[in-house]
Amino acid sequence: MAFSLCTFCSSSEKIDPLFFDHSRRVGELIGSEGMELVYGGASCGLMGEVARYARRGGARVTGIIPEKLLPKSIGPQEVDELIITKDMASRKAEMERRADGFLVLPGGFGTLEEALEVMTLKQLGYHSKPIVFLNIRNFFSPLLDLFEGFYRERFAKEEYRRLYAVFTDSESLFTYLKSYVPEVLPQKW
Ligand code: AMP
Repeated sequence: MAFSLCTFCSSSEKIDPLFFDHSRRVGELIGSEGMELVYGGASCGLMGEVARYARRGGARVTGIIPEKLLPKSIGPQEVDELIITKDMASRKAEMERRADGFLVLPGGFGTLEEALEVMTLKQLGYHSKPIVFLNIRNFFSPLLDLFEGFYRERFAKEEYRRLYAVFTDSESLFTYLKSYVPEVLPQKW
């Protein structure tokens, strides 16, 4: 069965074109690596860009969207399947259930919330799937610095640095995903 990659990324259209360039490449690689895409089901921003290029590259694309956001959802050229959920919580649960791994691209509050949820679940041992950040133009560096503060000040165990992996180029990120071996992490409690 194909590896199912779930992406969390910006819904904004107004961001620097550089982020769109990287998102296109991610979409192409999802296709050329024979993966499937699971994502938030919208056509806007980096979300739609990844989906369009993944599908164009031959990947099966599943969009999962809560009914409230349906007007923002995408057309048949971007998804093979659109799953409509009652609310945001059940949508996230469905995305997490279907994914074999998670890729975080630059985004705002929604992206951060989704990324932190899968990291928190992994920290608590609910899953052991890979979580990768594409750190385009150091976008995530302030967040990664904050995480370093967690380890320094002992809010989190140092070993939890291995909950996620950070890449600056998509090629090495996909190489990591393909050869991922679940981390052995200490129990939080
Ligand atoms: P943000 O980073 O605030 O732009 O939010 C992006 C993340 O939140 C995406 O990964 C989506 O899962 C979710 N999201 C935000 N806006 C929408 C939308 N219009 N339709 C579907 N999902 C959205």
